Amino acid sequence: MTLIVQKYGGSSVADAESIKRVAKRIVETRKAGNEVVVAVSAMGDTTDELIDLANQVSPIPDPRELDMLLTTGERISMALLAMAIRDMGFEARSYTGSQAGMITDARHGSARIVDVTPGRVREALDAGAIAIVAGFQGFNRDSRDITTLGRGGSDTTAVALAAALGADVCEIYTDVDGVFTADPRIVPKARKLDRVTSEEMLELAAAGAKVLYIRAVEYARRHGVTLHVRSSFNNNEGTWVVNPVEGETVEEPIITGVAGDLSEAKITVVGVPDVPGKAAEIFTIVAKTGANIDMIVQNVSAAATGLTDISFTLPKADGEKVLAALRVAQPDAGFASLQYDDQIGKLAVVGAGMRTSAGVSAALFRSLSEAGINIEMISTSEIRISVVTRADTLPQAMRVVHAAFGLDGDADAVVYAGTGR
Ligand code: ADP
Ligand code: ASP
Ligand code: MG
Repeated sequence: MTLIVQKYGGSSVADAESIKRVAKRIVETRKAGNEVVVAVSAMGDTTDELIDLANQVSPIPDPRELDMLLTTGERISMALLAMAIRDMGFEARSYTGSQAGMITDARHGSARIVDVTPGRVREALDAGAIAIVAGFQGFNRDSRDITTLGRGGSDTTAVALAAALGADVCEIYTDVDGVFTADPRIVPKARKLDRVTSEEMLELAAAGAKVLYIRAVEYARRHGVTLHVRSSFNNNEGTWVVNPVEGETVEEPIITGVAGDLSEAKITVVGVPDVPGKAAEIFTIVAKTGANIDMIVQNVSAAATGLTDISFTLPKADGEKVLAALRVAQPDAGFASLQYDDQIGKLAVVGAGMRTSAGVSAALFRSLSEAGINIEMISTSEIRISVVTRADTLPQAMRVVHAAFGLDGDADAVVYAGTGR
């Protein structure tokens, strides 16, 4: 028997009607003779609404209690989905993350899966039932507490279940037809990709393409899980995330996609003494906060003063924490002041073909300059170039760059649901 893991995102189960529609799809898959395991997200924007609610009660919610709160969202959708399937005459059983054996480390808000023991899920399948698992949540054995896997984490739940159960495929159902050359909400002329390599998908996800959560892509690659991203609103073939076999020559476009990210901020440490060891000192302070730093730029120091400025980008969510740590260290580190800028946008172009192709940076910079968009920071990897712009110019920048690299399709992409939140 073929075992299929299906993940339905929040926009696919936003209301009672959608839940019944999804239940029907699941039943069709079961009727076709497959074993079916489902990972489901919270309905619509429930998770965001719960976070807003928590912030109204507490400016910095306790991480343990926040996870306790947020995991209720997925509990609602899993139970409703199981009910709807039962009404269609099929046996379905819902399980929380801990019941389904999603064992994680203890990091509230961004826990990592360390083990999956899906005994109860397997039993349900053996009994002929459809298993519905709450996405995004796990359980830590030491603290015996409930954890969450980070925003978008239901994708990881699905992939981890697929790996542990030896599923034939992991289908990620969402509100667009698959992975596109850019977010179709921002770039209407974006085109659906029939396939994307996991390497490129990792770069796109890291650069803000939230259609797949980066950790889910990593997990799938590590465990050899086949991923198929598709729409829950039709039966069209979506995008296959593939791992090209070593030595296989696939025709690689120079640019596969464009991604944008508005979730980062920039900190500038002004007036840093330009002597060996200063960067190490500053970034040790930053590292101790646990914040993930992305781009770093150090200016040439002014000869007269021997002082330089160092700027770096980081998630806005970590901004306050890092500023506070730097302020404490300021007298010792000896820099003059700190600047915080949360109005930046980050644009990235990604493509495996970049490795063997010159002039991509020049083409990128030219297209931005022709549109009058200023570049504030630049960083590159083997298959990605990222630039920082003003936040309000990011959407236009994405459209301009998408067109400049010849990625525009003939028709406008369809977005079936969701608020884009
Ligand atoms: P779900 O609720 O199904 O998990 P998400 O909102 O997490 O859905 O992800 C789907 C959304 O990701 C799409 O509606 C789209 O706006 C956005 N997105 C960003 N980049 C891309 C891309 N390259 N391809 C497709 N969708 C993208
Ligand atoms: N509900 C969670 C979120 O909104 C997990 C997910 O949807 O993947 O982040
Ligand atoms: Mg998602």
